[in-house]
Amino acid sequence: MPTLSNTFCAECNRFMKPLAIGVVVEEKMNDGQPYKLWLADILECPVCEKGVIVGFGQYPLAEHFDPHYERRKKIAIDSDNFYEESEENE
Ligand SMILES: [Zn+2]
Repeated sequence: MPTLSNTFCAECNRFMKPLAIGVVVEEKMNDGQPYKLWLADILECPVCEKGVIVGFGQYPLAEHFDPHYERRKKIAIDSDNFYEESEENE
C-alpha cells in the first residue's frame, strides 16, 4: 500500500490524506429507517478537498435492534462525528 493511503483522487492525481479517523456512519433501510452504525475514516484530497469515507469495519458498531443503538448514535452526533446515508433515492 502507498505511504499516505490507498485512495487516489482521479481529478487531481494525488493520494488522499486522512482527515478524520473513526467517524460513525448510519446505513439506512430502503424505507429510510435506521439500520446499522459503522465506524469508518474520512480521507480528503489535498488539492480539491473532496472527501470520501472509507475503511468500514468488518462488523457494524451497532444494529437497529441493539439496546445501545440510540445511545451510540447520540454520542456520535454530540461529538460532531456522525454521517448518515441520504434517504433520497435517485
Ligand atoms: Zn482532488
